[in-house]
Amino acid sequence: MSTTTPQKFEFQAEIKQLLDIVIHSLYTEKEIFVRELVSNASDALEKLRHTQLTEKEIFDDQLDLEINVTTDDKAKTITIQDFGIGMTRTELVENLGTIAHSGSKAFLKALGEGAQKNANLIGQFGVGFYSAFMVAKSVKVYTRSWRTGEVGQVWESDGSGNYSVEESDGQRRGAKIVIELKDDCGDYSQDWKIKEILERYSAFVSFPINLNGKRINTVQALWLRTKNEIKEEEYTEFYKFQAHAFDEPRLRLHFSADAPLAINALLFVPKENTEKLGLSRLEPSVSLYCRKVLIDAKPKDILPEWLRFMKGVVDSEDLPLNISRETMQDKALIEKLNKVITKRFLKFLDEEAKNRADGYAEFYKEFGVFLKEGAALDFTHKDQLVKLLRFESSLTEKGKTTSLTDYVSRMGSDQKEIYYLIGPNRASLEAGPYLEGFKARNLEVLFCYEAVDEYVMHNVREFDGKKLTAADHADVKLSDQPKPEGALSEADTQTLTNWLKETLGERVPEVKASDRLVDSPVLALNADKFMSPQMRRMMKAMNKEGGDNPLRVNLEINPRHAVIKRLFETHTAAPERAKLVAEQLLDNALISAGLLEDPTAMVARLNKLLESV
Ligand code: ADP
Ligand code: MG
Repeated sequence: MSTTTPQKFEFQAEIKQLLDIVIHSLYTEKEIFVRELVSNASDALEKLRHTQLTEKEIFDDQLDLEINVTTDDKAKTITIQDFGIGMTRTELVENLGTIAHSGSKAFLKALGEGAQKNANLIGQFGVGFYSAFMVAKSVKVYTRSWRTGEVGQVWESDGSGNYSVEESDGQRRGAKIVIELKDDCGDYSQDWKIKEILERYSAFVSFPINLNGKRINTVQALWLRTKNEIKEEEYTEFYKFQAHAFDEPRLRLHFSADAPLAINALLFVPKENTEKLGLSRLEPSVSLYCRKVLIDAKPKDILPEWLRFMKGVVDSEDLPLNISRETMQDKALIEKLNKVITKRFLKFLDEEAKNRADGYAEFYKEFGVFLKEGAALDFTHKDQLVKLLRFESSLTEKGKTTSLTDYVSRMGSDQKEIYYLIGPNRASLEAGPYLEGFKARNLEVLFCYEAVDEYVMHNVREFDGKKLTAADHADVKLSDQPKPEGALSEADTQTLTNWLKETLGERVPEVKASDRLVDSPVLALNADKFMSPQMRRMMKAMNKEGGDNPLRVNLEINPRHAVIKRLFETHTAAPERAKLVAEQLLDNALISAGLLEDPTAMVARLNKLLESV
C-alpha cells in the first residue's frame, strides 16, 4: 500500500533513443531479455554477498541468496525476483533512468557513428535492463534496498518517454521485475519456454535459480571442474554469460596452478577487438574470485594493461575475501597473481603460434596491437612478447608474416642488425628506393604498416642481441658491392656531390654516393636523427611542435644511374637546366620518402624542364 502518489520522471534523452530502437527493432532473439535480467539479479546477489562481508546491519538478512522466476500464462506475465542488494529511490532513478551501463553506451556510440538503425546491433551489444522492453507492454520494478533505513519502491514504465516511482510497502530485500508481456510475446509466460531459455543461458549463475518453485540450475563453477569433463558448448555458453558477450570466443585457456599461488583460471580471447572498431578503450574484465565467491568483477591489477581485451575468471583460494589494494601484503599478492597468469598466458600464445599458426595469425590480426603495446611498454614481459610479434617482410609473400626468431635464423653470418622499413603498405615500400640496396645484398627487411610500429621498434631496440635498425636511417652501412661498369668515377662523383650540396643549400646538409641504390637515381635520408619521416608526419598531423621545423634530408646519389651521369655532364654544360634537374631529383626523393609537403613549386619547374625537351 502506498502512502504517496507516484512521481513522474522523463527518461534521459539517450535512454529514449535506446528504448525507441529496442521497442521497434525486429531483433529476433528477443529471449535475451531473460539472460539480461537474470544476470542483473545475479550481479545484485553478488553485491549483497560482498556487502555482507563488511556491513553488520542488513535488511532481511536471513533471506537466501537466490533468484526466483515465475510465469503466469493467464495474466501473460513473467516475474524475476532476487534477494540481492536492491535499490533506493535515488538508485532507481540513477540506474534505470540514465545511461550507466557501458554496453548500452557502446551500443549508442556505434549507432551514432553511422551504423544504421540496425537491429542486429542489439544482438552484438546487449542493452541490459532495457532489453525487457522488447517483449514488455509494461515493466514494474519492486525493490527494497539492503540499507535498513530505507523504504520499498516501485518503478514503472511502458517504455515510452516516462517512468514513475512510488513508495511501496511490504517489499522484501532485493528486486522483483514484473513484465506484462506484449500480445505477440505471450510465449514468455509459458513455463516450458522459460525453462528452456534458463537451462541454456543460466547454467553458470552461481546462485540457485527456481522457476515456478522448481530448481533449474545446479550451481557450479565451471573453472573449478576438470577440463576433460567440460563440453565445448559449456565453455562457449560460460564465456557468453560471464563476458556478457554475443560472439564465440576465439581462444581459451583453462589452467590451474599450485605454486606460488593456488590458482584456477579460465581465460578467453574474444572474437573481435572492439577497440579496433573504434569503440571506447576496453576495461579490464577478468573477474577475480576466491573459492567461487566474487571478489571483484573488474579488478584493475590482476593482468597487465595490454591484456585488457581478455575475458574470464581467476579464482585463487590464497586471497583474502576482503582484499584491499591499499595494504602492502595484498598488493604483493595481486602482483604475484598477475605474474603467474601473464606468464602462463604468454606461454599459451607461444604454443598456439607453434601448433596452430593459422589460428594464431588470425588472432594476431585482431589483437596483435595489444602485444605490440606490451612489447613497447611492459619491460617485465618484453622478451616473450617480442617473440610473439609478426611482420611481413621483403622475403614473405604478401599477407604472410614472419617472427623475429625466424628472421634471425635466416640472417647471413655477416649481417649484424635486423632491418625494418615503415610505410603505408607493401606496394609503396617495394616501389620506394630504400629497399634496393638490401635486395641486391639479399638482406631481409621487415615491413611495418601500423602507426604504432615505429614507437614499438624504438622501444624494443634489439632482439636476440641484434639491433633493430630502420633501413632508411642515415647510419645504415651496407657492404661494398662490385662496381658495375660505366659508373661515374670517384673524382667525378665527388665533384657532382659538392655541386649538388651547393646548389640545394641548407635543405640538404649532406650529399654522398650511395651504397644502397640500384635502380633509383637518388634517395633522401633522415638528417634529423630524432625525427623520422613517419614521426614528422604524425607530429604535423597532430599539430605538434617539431612538425613544422624546416625539413632537412641527406641525399644519396647513385653514380651508376643514367640520370646522375647525365647530370654530371649538364652541370657544366647547361647549369641553369642542371639546377632544375637537381631540385626535381630532391623532390622525387622526398616523394619516395613520403616527405614532399608542397608540390606546387614542382609543377612550375617540371613545365620549365619540359620546354627544353
Ligand atoms: P548493467 O547490468 O550492465 O550495469 P543494466 O542495464 O542491465 O546494466 O542495469 C542497469 C543498472 O540497474 C545496474 O547497473 C544496477 O545498478 C541496476 N539494476 C538492474 N537490475 C538490478 C537488480 N535486480 N537489483 C539491483 N540493481 C539492479
Ligand atoms: Mg545488466
